[in-house]
Formats: sequence, C-alpha cells, structure tokens
Amino acid sequence: MPINFVKADFIRSAGSREQFLWDGLPQFAFAGRSNVGKSSVINRLLGRKNLAYVGSSPGKTTQVNYYLVDGKAYLVDLPGYGYAKVSKAEKERWGRLMESYFQEAHITTGVLIVDARHKPTANDLTMHGWFRETGCPEIVVANKLDKLKKSQIDPALALIRETLELGEGDVLLPFSAEKGTGKEELIRLLNAAI
Ligand code: GDP
Repeated sequence: MPINFVKADFIRSAGSREQFLWDGLPQFAFAGRSNVGKSSVINRLLGRKNLAYVGSSPGKTTQVNYYLVDGKAYLVDLPGYGYAKVSKAEKERWGRLMESYFQEAHITTGVLIVDARHKPTANDLTMHGWFRETGCPEIVVANKLDKLKKSQIDPALALIRETLELGEGDVLLPFSAEKGTGKEELIRLLNAAI
C-alpha cells in the first residue's frame, strides 16, 4: 500500500542530538533555505493548510521537526537556513545541529528544496553536499515554478542542474506549492524510495 501522506501527525521537535528520532522507519529529510517555501511544499504534500507553519519568523526555529506519515515513515523538516538577519550565535547553533544530524544520518531520501527562479546559493550547495556525503538518494525540488514564464523554465532548470552538478540519473522536480504542480510526482518518488 502506498503511503497516504494525508494521514500525518506531528511527533516531535528536536533541538539537540539526544532528541533525534531513529526507530527504523524510513525518514524523508526536507531541507531548504528560509522562505524557499519548504513549509508550503510540506503542507501541499500532506494536504494541509498549516501543519508545517508557513511564514513563521524565518530562522527563529532551529529545530528538527518530525511528522509520522501513515504510520509508515517520517517526514523530517530540517530547520531553514540562509536567513540574513539571524544572529551569529543562531547560525552556529544551526551548524552544530545539522552536523550532528548528518553525522548519524539514517536518511532514506533527502529532499532539497531550491527556488526555481534562482541559481542555488552557497548554503544550498552545502546542504546538497551533506546529503551526498550520507549516500542517501536525493530529490531536488525546484519550487515556485508558477513564478516563471514558460520560456524561462528550461534555462532555469538547466542552471540548477549545472550548479548542483546533477547527473542524468539525479532527480530535479519542477514544483509549485502554490498550484500543486509536481505533488503527485513527489509522492510517487517518495513511495518508490521505501
Ligand atoms: P519556508 O520559510 O521555506 O518554510 O517558506 P514558506 O512556506 O513560509 O513560504 C514563504 C513564502 O513563499 C510564503 O509567502 C509562501 O506563500 C510563498 N510560496 C511558497 N511556495 C510558493 C510557490 O510555489 N509559489 C509561490 N508563488 N509562492 C510560494
């Protein structure tokens, strides 16, 4: 039976290594810079309006949030990064938390959300590198596709592929959390991963 993403429950927020959850169920780790639309993508996937809080003051929540989906897998919402106004201390906290998360990583699939309109940032590249180092498969989601004109889509996707050095077999999924574009494909890819 495929995972029914609509059946999702918030389980836990982890702010330190001791609070991470590893119980053998598959884990889909979602990462993206602040404001890229990570919460919106998660809410779209789960068919909710506000399970993952949209528009919370960026960078304020350095926590790893776990949602159990259909009793079969965890959707792990990693804290957003790259928000300019965050204090140095908060950035360091984020770095330490991510380092310990990726050190122990039991990630089934990484989902890296980037902005379809822009070249991936240095922080996106760092996160991409961490996913690669764990050896887990990665799905790159190019969100906010609805903000591009049709003629802009192919060049924008090519720039993302080139910057992240994606190969033929690497998945880049055009997505719009706003319109729902790409949702079924993301569900299919995540189901195929377990
Ligand atoms: P997060 O900080 O990455 O969790 O980002 P949010 O989900 O809070 O979204 C940031 C802003 O981008 C909000 O105003 C969303 O409504 C908007 N947004 C998110 N996804 C899309 C999308 O696919 N298209 C458009 N046009 N706006 C989006």
